[in-house]
Amino acid sequence: MFKKVLIANRGEIALRIVRAARELGVRSVVVHSEADADSLPVLLADEAICIGPASAQQSYLNIPNILSAAIISGADAIHPGYGFLAENAQFAEMIAEHGVTFIGPTPENMRMLGDKATARRIAREAGVPVVPGTDALESVAEALAAAAQIGYPVILKASAGGGGRGMRVVHTPDGLENAVLQAKEEARAAFGNPEIYLEKYVEEPKHVEVQVLGDGKKVVHLWERDCSIQRRHQKLLEEAPSTLPQEVRRGLTGAAVKLAKHINYQSAGTLEFLVDREGNYYFIEMNTRIQVEHPVTEMITGVDLVAEQFRIAAGEGLRLKQKDIISRGHAIEARINAEDPDRNFRPSIGKVETVLWPGGTGVRVDSHLYTGYEIPSHYDSLLGKVIVWAEDRQAAIKRMQRALGEAVVDGPGLKTTIPFHKKVLDNAFFRRGAIYTNFIARRMSE
Ligand code: ADP
Repeated sequence: MFKKVLIANRGEIALRIVRAARELGVRSVVVHSEADADSLPVLLADEAICIGPASAQQSYLNIPNILSAAIISGADAIHPGYGFLAENAQFAEMIAEHGVTFIGPTPENMRMLGDKATARRIAREAGVPVVPGTDALESVAEALAAAAQIGYPVILKASAGGGGRGMRVVHTPDGLENAVLQAKEEARAAFGNPEIYLEKYVEEPKHVEVQVLGDGKKVVHLWERDCSIQRRHQKLLEEAPSTLPQEVRRGLTGAAVKLAKHINYQSAGTLEFLVDREGNYYFIEMNTRIQVEHPVTEMITGVDLVAEQFRIAAGEGLRLKQKDIISRGHAIEARINAEDPDRNFRPSIGKVETVLWPGGTGVRVDSHLYTGYEIPSHYDSLLGKVIVWAEDRQAAIKRMQRALGEAVVDGPGLKTTIPFHKKVLDNAFFRRGAIYTNFIARRMSE
């Protein structure tokens, strides 16, 4: 096992990794920006190093400074968390050249799946169904021809896309030319790469994703998560397992393992699928990193996914056998964001005057908040995650209602998603599992 890990991230995920490291007997070094000097992961890590000013470009994305911090502190591994450098193959290669292990997939894995159009091609090679669509588009004429064949509506997506950004739904042929030009421009501005592709727009799908772990040879799955509750294509509430019929669950998990094996995947990864009303599933992308919503999988399987990432990166191989990974009970995660649900989830910042997290049976909270914490305006709005486990979905919903009823995150002008989650949990469609990616727009708009 490693002696010392450098954590190249912030917030709740940095804390999550500090905790895993401590349980494994690995010392932790948290690198941080000036704005995060007083953050909880910094306070709880064994060591902390400031790597730059608040702007992420100059700190959490500053490869030379992070690499220097690793060398100076004598870290033998780096865990990138999610976001920032987590899917940056070049970063993984650079640190390897300095003898530091990247806790994550191989650079080849990341390159193959980082580009979404390429990932679609690999999925097809592996025999995994993808949404009907194209490779990277060469021209407007090609887009028109493909859309005519597939049928409208279609969705234009950036090959380098992420975070639910840069997608455009097109309903008719006359809107397509402009949409293609605008989507390319947006993709160039947001991701530095104008490449786009086209897919059939699946109406009212569920977003269901499969967690896998691989060691470069063997691959196991840890069942699936339903992440259909989204605002602007970004996840807000997740659960495991899904409410899909057993045969669809088997199909999905089998397809995920097939794809991950096809590329000799190493580390934790997530294969995302859209599932239509008939139970047909289509691969959309693979995230080659630990995800925000990983705790629901940990709750139903009892596996510590971050610790497994450490073991795999340290060359210990995959210890888990498929037959031992049992999906037990039901887990739900509510993302607590500093956002105002009444103003289209606009970010809200401020000082946290009171924090009281819930506890009790079956409740887990992953959060870097504490009383007096000043929320920096430079980063994403995630303040923490409340996760519950219970024997079945209805009991988990009740437990989450109880838990959120206890939660207090207050400060002058501070708005969070807690009241919104309470409404979702009360909604009759949600309670009977009638959840699709348009749930918020369709069922929560009043
Ligand atoms: P990102 O990498 O930006 O998160 P994804 O490809 O994972 O993008 O898609 C995010 C969300 O966008 C999906 O969960 C779904 O709600 C919606 N979406 C993506 N592709 C389609 C599609 N072909 N049809 C309908 N919805 C889609």
